[in-house]
Amino acid sequence: MEPPSAYLERLRPAGGKRSSKRDLIVNVFLRQEGHLSADDLVDLIRREDQKISRATVYRTLQWMVDAGVARKVDFGEGRFRFEHSYRHPRHFHLICKSCNKSSEFLSSDIEALIEEVAAARHFAQRQSVVQIYGTCEECRLGRRSPVGDGPTELLFARDALRIAIATERSGLEFYARAARITRDARGRSVFRKLAAEEEEHLGKLEARYKELLAEDPQLESRPTFLFFKGAANGLFADGAKQLSEGVDDKEALRIGIRCERGSHRFFKRYGERFEDSEGKRIFLEFADEERSHLELLIRELRALVARKPAPKRTTRTTRAAAAPSRSKAGRRSRRPRA
Ligand SMILES: [Zn+2]
Ligand SMILES: [Zn+2]
Repeated sequence: MEPPSAYLERLRPAGGKRSSKRDLIVNVFLRQEGHLSADDLVDLIRREDQKISRATVYRTLQWMVDAGVARKVDFGEGRFRFEHSYRHPRHFHLICKSCNKSSEFLSSDIEALIEEVAAARHFAQRQSVVQIYGTCEECRLGRRSPVGDGPTELLFARDALRIAIATERSGLEFYARAARITRDARGRSVFRKLAAEEEEHLGKLEARYKELLAEDPQLESRPTFLFFKGAANGLFADGAKQLSEGVDDKEALRIGIRCERGSHRFFKRYGERFEDSEGKRIFLEFADEERSHLELLIRELRALVARKPAPKRTTRTTRAAAAPSRSKAGRRSRRPRA
């Protein structure tokens, strides 16, 4: 993980001078969770250094917005608030009009819908803001909830892990089932190998999840941050269902390819969108793993088609002779488009 100093160094404009005042302001800002007004930040800075002027804080805040260190948010209060983007993914807000507290969430379904609308209108979207105004549970019921939101970074890592774990579980179920129904011996061993890999990786993800819970014992009861409707049950769940309806070996491979491709795209797309964070790393590592599974399955399907061409096609000896040998087929196959 990139430390804050490296993060700032990277953002500093070429030739930009270091300023100890600015560094202090930025460091104080990065330590805050939540959404600060400019005046909140002035108060925090004054606690550390009385001599820093309001104008300097304002200027630095603007610099942080321009440099991408801070995001400006408007909760309809007549003034802007600021949140830092260091290890803090883009997100949407729920804003309580009684207590002015805001909490954060992210939803792939909302984002997909925004992209769909923008594409349909040939609109080059740059930024989208979703804010839900209303009354929070605490204000509605008049009692404090026992656990707060907690740091977004932890919630994000927790939810990214939950989704990755659900995907691994559904993948494991899929490959175990595929290995049971596949008659072709080589295809069976490929499915077994993939099932074993999913199981091993599942173990690692579950261990990481436990470590995360150790960092914050209340983490499990904190509110959901990432909403992924389609992914919640595991991206392989539909594929596993199709397998149980009875399919042949080639079809089983094709379903596996579809699932892996969908999974690879999902994790890559969202992983790339997140700011640097553990959640991002979990997604991108997972995307890579899914890609290697996808490539393996595509090679296997090609090899199976070469060994057992479809009955209607001509199977002249010249074709059979031209078919590449097993190991070559693997090396020679092109990388799949993902
Ligand atoms: Zn409230
Ligand atoms: Zn926020």
